Amino acid sequence: MSAENRVISQVFEGLNEEQQRAVVTTEGPLLVVAGPGTGKTLTIVRRLAYLVGRGVPPERILAVTFTNRAAREMRERTDTLLGSRGGKVFIGTFHLLGLRIIMESLQRGFSVIDRERQTDILKGLTGGAKKADLMAERISRIKGFIEEIDEETRDVFEAYENTLRNDHLYDFDDLIRVPLAAMEDGTDAESFKRTFSYIMVDEYQDINLAQYRLLRCLVSDEGNICAVGDPDQAIYAFRGADVGNFLNFEKDFPGGLKVTLRQNYRSSKVILGASSDLIGHNTRRMDKELEAVGSKGARITVISAPDEKAEAEAIVREIEARVGGTSHYGLLTGAPGMDFADCPGGFRDFAVIYRTNAQAKALEEVLHRSGIPFQVVGGKGAAGIRMIADHVRRHIEEGQDAADVLGAAECLCGEPSISEDDRASLYQIISAYRSLPPHEALTGVMNELSLLSSGDSFDPRAEALTLMTLHTAKGLEFKVVFIAGVEDGLVPFTLGRGETDMEEERRLLYVGMTRARDDLILTCARNRSLYGRISQSRPSPFLDEISERFVEKRVVRDRVKSPKQRQMKLF
Ligand code: ATP
Ligand code: MG
Repeated sequence: MSAENRVISQVFEGLNEEQQRAVVTTEGPLLVVAGPGTGKTLTIVRRLAYLVGRGVPPERILAVTFTNRAAREMRERTDTLLGSRGGKVFIGTFHLLGLRIIMESLQRGFSVIDRERQTDILKGLTGGAKKADLMAERISRIKGFIEEIDEETRDVFEAYENTLRNDHLYDFDDLIRVPLAAMEDGTDAESFKRTFSYIMVDEYQDINLAQYRLLRCLVSDEGNICAVGDPDQAIYAFRGADVGNFLNFEKDFPGGLKVTLRQNYRSSKVILGASSDLIGHNTRRMDKELEAVGSKGARITVISAPDEKAEAEAIVREIEARVGGTSHYGLLTGAPGMDFADCPGGFRDFAVIYRTNAQAKALEEVLHRSGIPFQVVGGKGAAGIRMIADHVRRHIEEGQDAADVLGAAECLCGEPSISEDDRASLYQIISAYRSLPPHEALTGVMNELSLLSSGDSFDPRAEALTLMTLHTAKGLEFKVVFIAGVEDGLVPFTLGRGETDMEEERRLLYVGMTRARDDLILTCARNRSLYGRISQSRPSPFLDEISERFVEKRVVRDRVKSPKQRQMKLF
């Protein structure tokens, strides 16, 4: 069998009829609308391989996703199907796409600054860390066409832009805005349109206006664009994502085909049923039938605990029960136990998901004592990438030769502290720039490192439990999922500024619930200490929207107070 035929036969392996239709419909606009776990991302990867298998030059294919992690996964799956031929397909986030367009067509010799450096600059202009944070958010919204500039912001905005210009810096929003301006002003518009013949976008429901406009500039006259998504999983309205773009696809790209995928291959019938109950309460939606291919599965468990520490302990106990044994923690708390050092692994099958990063602390403390290995996505994530970025930056500042710095960076990738996942990304970046003169290559590598260190990366191969927010869980799946803090105030989140969009909050919980394959456990605390305050809390009103037949409720009783504590209460 020729290499081409082998690729084509692998492309269709296991796909259902509708998925196959989406794969072979390569010409003209194609919209794939489907619920979670129906194989949308899988279909994109297969479609991409199909195009290459049919002889489309890989460099003419663009696949955009929303997170570094999703891009990496797509890259790995593509490489498995295509080997080295897949290397030239552009797979990446919108930011990476913008960066590459700028470097290849518009300008070289600039640096990308991450949010941390952005707020450092703004601290100098606003006079305080808190103000700088707020201003960074506002500037991002202005640059993303979500907000108009107002008088209050204008001076700082202009001073900030001057600083960036003088120091040849771009922030993340510029990576979309700058190429967009170049394309929309028309001079080189035609050449940009010819860059990619086939475009695919995953998670299309979360595209914002700037990204959407960039995409429209890139779609060739043949209109070969494939958008894949689920309006029920739109969770970025607060960042200006507009489900309207999704709903308007057929109008914006006329003459296309719409494919609906109905079979959910991820979750048990119970998990899918409970999730569908929940999302059915949204009024603004396109109803989609979904059928779970898998087995019925166990009921989802709702656990009420007295406080966030007891909630975390309950989660540890549930994990222990599932990996067969208990930890040091179990020993300490008097439960029968086994040391996790002897555990055959399997922690990567578990995720604990929460609404805000502030919830992570209590979970981390208890997990730390339990001995269960875990990784936190976001926050302190991407430490390895940061380490390399800092190292490279220091050498550049010391004026070392660019070729030497690149060589040193490559050596650093071999350090044991760098996760396998980060290492793969780093090698990929370095090799992408290998053909350029060392100085330019170094700038490119540095800029891409800035994008990667923004913190959505985690190592899917690590034998560790994953902790992350509902937002970062998008697109992922785990055998066992815990959602912590399913309480009124957190889910829906009403503690922030501004009005709560109940439908978006419901979609967010829906995204969380549909990450689970076999087991879903929702936990809540009756008292929670958060942002330095202790308050009583009630279970999330969304729980009432899930049919009782899918749920098993458990209550962890209040702690029995020690005689000393009881005595203290008398005074
Ligand atoms: P989400 O909306 O959460 O992003 P998705 O629609 O992108 O989900 P995938 O992540 O592509 O779904 O697939 C979900 C799971 O179903 C994966 O484990 C995938 O391998 C599996 N899957 C998809 N299609 C099939 C199929 N035809 N046969 C067997 N398994 C499949
Ligand atoms: Mg997906």
